[in-house]
Amino acid sequence: MSAQVAYRKVTELKGVGAALASKLGKLGIHNFQDLLFHLPLRYQDRTRITAIGAMRPGDEVVVEARVVACDIVMGRRRSLVCRIQDGTGTLTLRFFHFSAAQKSGLINADIRCFGEVRPGSNGLELIHPEYKVMKGEGFDQLEETLTPIYPLTEGLTQPRLRSLVGQALSALGSEPLDELLPDSELARNNYPSLTDAVRFLHQPPVGVDLESLLEGQHPAQRRLAFEELLAHNLSLRVVRHQMQTQGAPALKSTGRLTLPFLDRLPFSLTQAQLRVAREVARDMGRSLPMLRLVQGDVGSGKTMIAVLAALQAVENGKQAAVMAPTEILAEQHLINFKSWLEPLGIKVSWLAGKVKGKAREAALAEISGGDAQVVVGTHALFQDEVAFHDLAMVVIDEQHRFGVDQRLSLREKGRNDGKIPHQLIMTATPIPRTLAMSAYADLDCSIIDELPPGRTPVQTVVIDDSRRDRVVERVEQNCKQGLQAYWVCTLVEESEALQCQAAETTAEELREALPDLRIGLVHGRLKPAEKAEVMAQFKAHELDLLVATTVIEVGVDVPNSSLMIIENPERLGLSQLHQLRGRVGRGSRESFCVLMYHAPLSQQGRDRLAIMRETSDGFRIAERDLELRGPGEVLGTRQTGMMSFRIADLQRDADMLDSVQQTAERIETSTELTRQLCDRWILNADQYAQV
Ligand code: ADP
Ligand code: MG
Repeated sequence: MSAQVAYRKVTELKGVGAALASKLGKLGIHNFQDLLFHLPLRYQDRTRITAIGAMRPGDEVVVEARVVACDIVMGRRRSLVCRIQDGTGTLTLRFFHFSAAQKSGLINADIRCFGEVRPGSNGLELIHPEYKVMKGEGFDQLEETLTPIYPLTEGLTQPRLRSLVGQALSALGSEPLDELLPDSELARNNYPSLTDAVRFLHQPPVGVDLESLLEGQHPAQRRLAFEELLAHNLSLRVVRHQMQTQGAPALKSTGRLTLPFLDRLPFSLTQAQLRVAREVARDMGRSLPMLRLVQGDVGSGKTMIAVLAALQAVENGKQAAVMAPTEILAEQHLINFKSWLEPLGIKVSWLAGKVKGKAREAALAEISGGDAQVVVGTHALFQDEVAFHDLAMVVIDEQHRFGVDQRLSLREKGRNDGKIPHQLIMTATPIPRTLAMSAYADLDCSIIDELPPGRTPVQTVVIDDSRRDRVVERVEQNCKQGLQAYWVCTLVEESEALQCQAAETTAEELREALPDLRIGLVHGRLKPAEKAEVMAQFKAHELDLLVATTVIEVGVDVPNSSLMIIENPERLGLSQLHQLRGRVGRGSRESFCVLMYHAPLSQQGRDRLAIMRETSDGFRIAERDLELRGPGEVLGTRQTGMMSFRIADLQRDADMLDSVQQTAERIETSTELTRQLCDRWILNADQYAQV
């Protein structure tokens, strides 16, 4: 059995000690199989030499040529500039970091270099190419396979990761990975075996159809994606199957609390809210656990559904928990729930990571003693020390931040007399119906497809970043009127570190350009407490402008912010842009979103951004996004955050979902095959396997 190879720990690889193992762990790589499933983002072709005369901007090339000039140039930045010739043309190499020795080594040398071709002031250039100087014996052989470029984490380099993958691949030589897909499935789709697929994707041979590979359409990729999607689908079926064997407390809708609550609201519910609220109330009245997903665009009023569900539990003398993925979001709910429920005589308690000491003890006692009728919090609610008195209803807001395994663990929390609580899961990520069927095969779905009346839609402007100065002025005007703004930096790079660095640089530049404004910065590398602090300052209007990476995608409601600048929006999925844009336009005043792209933009890129200008309907945007996904999008799709797959991508692989569904239907959830598939692909698979 190859299980041994697949599940061997990375520390068994040559040169991997505890330090490197923990870096790999950050990428979710713990064993050989994880490493083998950590696929390249893209590839470089270092298998052949390109003639200078045949180069086009944007190409990544290997060049062999002679250095004919080598000078230090004092421009905006001091740089070392070499001119090289290969008989077909002349090319410039430019280095910003260099030593004197490096310069003298380059003079008149024959070199081989690798880099990306860019248009320069004096013909084509390579900026900071990798290079080697030819010594007497000539150059090493060129690479025999395409060179993979992997997602990295700090302290890990491409060559290092490549060599580890190489070791894991050699181990497969003697023991291939277990083949779990039935032969008929492989044959029908023309898929390679798992081992062949993995080997191919890490080391694609020369002459491979690179385009299909970059689009994620190669049979080797499709085969892996198919298996992963199948495993997910099966795991969700297992969950559903388990749920249906459990009971839940039937919570009658009496109206004793919900009606007075609705009476006091300054508005009436929309038709869509009423419909979804009825669906939820009906589910909760049954003695089978509700497991319902409510999808509703940003601002569609999902919170009302949560409140009504919580009230229905309280009407029946039970507890309800409302959980949000971040402290800021949870705190917002706390403030709202208190203002709505306390007048009705309902005790609302609060639990989050930052609740410490006496306050924490008190909260835990309220929760376990039953005084707390509604508990609002973060994932702190999952912790072992939290024991509910009689939890019957769980609301999870912004679900895409919670994994299925977390849903399960919360369910276990509420287990009481063999009964489990009802669950309501809410998401603002619009999911086209076909995808929802796969992503949430264990859930029933409700959609709030209507916004409350009287909203002023966000006006979206698409402009070229050569007009950045004008945009900066616009930010200044906006903030001088006492309004606030967001500046979102996006960067698709192999490392998160670079992304945060870019935001830091932008914040510095803006602080210089706008010295009168109070400017804050949040990015993914801040500690949660630091992040929360900055967000709180922004919320309290102690900051005028918030520079951020896409971490603010789901989050604060700051009605006073009326302007959002998104840099390089062409790098994000439309749904993600839509989520970001939803951070403005929360007040009644006119709001603006400026999509500042980097020219030149392809026709398709323009079409995509135009959709953002034309519609603010999240579902339409999601559908269009799906239709338009195409070449080159592979990089962006990993970030859409709809569900985290290692290899599959619900949008890119949408066309195989039907077939995944059909295959899953043919496989019993209780079989050994299901168990093996879940083991391989699903984190914490043991939780699903208690069938
Ligand atoms: P989301 O679906 O993004 O969670 P919220 O529940 O936060 O939306 O609601 C957004 C805003 O709309 C809140 O200020 C809320 O009070 C308000 N709201 C919700 N429902 C209605 C309604 N039926 N009519 C008017 N305003 C509403
Ligand atoms: Mg919400």
